[in-house]
Parts: sequence; C-alpha cells; structure tokens
Amino acid sequence: MCGIVGFHGPDQVAADIIVGLTALQHRGQDAAGIATFDDAFHLCKGQGLVNDVFRPKSVKKLKGNSGIGHVRYTTQGANDSDLAQPFTTSYPFGLAMVHNGNVINFRDVAKRLHDEYHVLPKTTNDLELIMYTFASELRVKDLNHLSVVDIFDAVETTQHIVKGAYATITMIAGHGLLAFNDPLGIRPLALGRRDTPDGPTYAFVSESTCFDYLDFDFVEDVGPGQAIFIDNDYQVHRKNIPAVPKNFCVFEQIYFAREDSVIHGRLVARERVRLGKILARKVVDAGLKPDMVIDVPSSGYFSASGLAEAIGVPYRRALVKNNHMGRSFIVPTQAGREDVVKKKLNPIREFVEGKKVAVVDDSIVRGTTSRRIVRLLREAGAEEVYFISSAPPIVSPCIYGIDMAMSTELIAANYTEDEICRYIEADKVIYQDLADLQQLFAEERGHGGSCFACFSGKYPTGDVTHYLRHIQEERASHRGDKKKDKKSVSAKAPAPTEH
Ligand code: SF4
Repeated sequence: MCGIVGFHGPDQVAADIIVGLTALQHRGQDAAGIATFDDAFHLCKGQGLVNDVFRPKSVKKLKGNSGIGHVRYTTQGANDSDLAQPFTTSYPFGLAMVHNGNVINFRDVAKRLHDEYHVLPKTTNDLELIMYTFASELRVKDLNHLSVVDIFDAVETTQHIVKGAYATITMIAGHGLLAFNDPLGIRPLALGRRDTPDGPTYAFVSESTCFDYLDFDFVEDVGPGQAIFIDNDYQVHRKNIPAVPKNFCVFEQIYFAREDSVIHGRLVARERVRLGKILARKVVDAGLKPDMVIDVPSSGYFSASGLAEAIGVPYRRALVKNNHMGRSFIVPTQAGREDVVKKKLNPIREFVEGKKVAVVDDSIVRGTTSRRIVRLLREAGAEEVYFISSAPPIVSPCIYGIDMAMSTELIAANYTEDEICRYIEADKVIYQDLADLQQLFAEERGHGGSCFACFSGKYPTGDVTHYLRHIQEERASHRGDKKKDKKSVSAKAPAPTEH
C-alpha cells in the first residue's frame, strides 16, 4: 500500500504535492518522492517521512506546473532509496510514473520486455515493469504526432499484459498527465479540480482527504480499468473498459484509508460505524454484557462507537496512543512489533479497573498485538476482556499491495476461534461475519463490488498459487531474519496456550 498524487495546471505544483503527500502519510512511511516537469524533469526522493525528505532547498528545484508524488510502504523489493518512486525514463521519450499496488505476473512481464524490446529493468520495483510496458507500447506509435488515442491504446495493451493491482499516475513530457487503474480497480484513485483565474488545476490522489486540504472539488473516482488523460490545454479525456466487475479492496474501508476520505461514494468513518453496529448482534447473542466499549486507537474508534451505541453502553477512550510510534504490523520482526505495542499504548487504569471491557480493533492478524493489548488491560485491573474484531478472520495473505503477514503467520488461517481466544488471553473473541461484511459492501448505487480475498481466499485475478509462493519467500527474506523465517514458513503461527 502506498499513496500517490499528481497535479497538472497553470501554476507551480510542488507545494500542493507536498500537502497531498503529507495527507497520505498514513499510506507509507518508508520513502517519499516527487517529480515535476517544466522543460525537463526535476526529481527529489529519499527514505523517510515527507517532512524528512523535502527541505526548502530541494523543493525550490522542483519547478513545473505538472508533477507527481509518492509515499512508499514496502511490499515488493527491499526498502532502499533506489526503489523510492517516482521513476523516470527517456525511453521512448520522457515519462515519469508512480503507482500503488503489486504486479503479480512480474516474471512474464519482465521476460516479455527483455525478449521483445531488449529492456532490462534496473531495480526490483514492479513499477518499472508497468512503466516500461507502457513505454514500449508508446514506442510503436508515431512519436512526432502522439495522439490521445495512441496513449489510450498503449494503456489498454498495458492493462492486458500486466496482472495485479495498480493505480498509476504518469507525466508524459510535453503532453500531459495520465492516470489509469488495473481492470479490477483494486486500489483507490480519485480525480479533483480547483479553478483559478488562469484555468483549472486537476489532481489525481489516492484518497479524497487531499482535496479537503487543498480546496479541490471531487470530480470522480478513477474506475476499474479506466484511463483519464489531462492534456496541456487542461482538457479531460477518458477511456472506460465496459462491463468489468470492480473489486475494490474492502480493507481500505476497514483499516487503511483515512476516516475522512470518501471512496467510491462511501465515507470511511460512516462505514466503520456501520461495521460496529453490525457486531452488536454477535455480542448480544454471545451473552456478553460489557460495562464499556473501548477502541484500539485509532482505526478501531468508529467501529467501537458504533457498537457502544447499538448495545447501549458507554464508549470510553481508555487506551492512549503515543502517535510518534509507527504501525506495529509494519515492523519486520515479531520482537520488534511486541516492543512497539508496549511503547505505543497506555491504558487508563481509572476507567478499566474492575470493569468488563469490550475492546474493538480493526482486525486480528498474528494475534501478538491483540494479546499484548489484553494483557495491558488486565494489568490495569480489567475484570473481563472481550476482544472484538471489525474484520472477519484473515485467512489468506494479500497479494495486491498490503504486506499484512504470510499465511503461516496468520493466526486465523491456522487456529479456531476458541484457540485464538486462549492465545490472546481474552475472555471472548468476536469476529465480524464475512457474510455481513459482504452484504454491507455489496454492489450498490453503481459503485461496484469489493475484493474480500484475505477473508475468503478467493482472489479476483484467478489462480495465484505461483505468486503466493513467491510472495511468501520474498516477505520472509525481507524481514531480515531468513533463518528464522525458513523455520516459520514450514511451521505454523504461534501455538495457542492456556491461561
Ligand atoms: S486481499 Fe484483502 S487487503 Fe488485499 S486487496 Fe483484497 S481485500 Fe484488500
């Protein structure tokens, strides 16, 4: 999962790009980068947060009224600055590109590029495969008279060749700004517009929250397989693939996206409240009578408040988060993750002491974070702890850009609910039902359907056995403890223990 933005208008765009990337910082904290274009590309990228990478001196050099930006969360390739986006190429002429997602047939694409075009990607970043495939398709056009039809033709062939999840933004030097999605529309991308006396500025962004900060009006979501091109006269051209069933990532709504974003017509905060309300039935059916509902900050908040409202008990913010620690499941080793949880969350004893507490989190991935939270609450005097997951059990790894865990590490892929309850040392575990989630995110108002693959094991891109094997091996090696992971790949998730 990464965050991408692209701006094209009559004014300088570097400052807007930085504001946009800062709003998307939750989508990636490993690296950040910007490319702008006036009569040449200007590039600045590096490892770290947006505020670390872009200093006033470097921003001054980012000249141009067209530009793209990226915040990186490593899912493919190692985490080093060579892999930070944007990538640029002069083949067949100037292109600069960013993407959010994962290419799953990378070997086939790389072989085709080598055999047919003698192109050898320089890095392991799968963005290069998309960029060079698109570039190769452009190369066979009349480059002196490149038309919008030529550009859309190259996009369509690229979408046909490259499988997986990808939302992309491309600067085509001297022509304009292009955005296109994979045919299933798995990752989010939206188009906005701000009017100025000199003409409109258009922006493509991963999440609509960027528009709020920059006074842009939302125009539309970039649909599944759709391509949108803004030319140098600020005319908008669209190409749609007809009748493709959308498979938008439902986990964006549960966890990843910001609460104030509207994606495919749904306000993320409202959907999370609805998830909490649906859970009320399961809490009541289980005979639980909590004294209060609390959340695991901060993505559990809206679901916790929805659940509290539905069962008529108070909501309290009883876990205080240190916002200066990173997301725990992005930390590569288990010891590191447990340490982060300990330093990140502090329970308010006065609220929980002697109480039956229902604690709501967005999901349970490995169970280690959940167990640490249950222990914290018990140490603070909670009488009983019920652990409630807004998401259904995660039984399959994501191969579309979210590095949540390998299948051997996913606790729900390996153990029953009772075993998980014992492992995390809770008095009761309650998960969202997959059927309820599917009903909530069923196609409505023309907004299309969702991907539920990590809960159902049914991947919308078809048979992915080979890729699952590859991603398992690659993630193990990226975690930097190859030896340990060799063992854990053949072993199972941590054994549940009695308490
Ligand atoms: S597998 Fe899960 S996390 Fe990945 S795109 Fe599908 S719903 Fe999202």
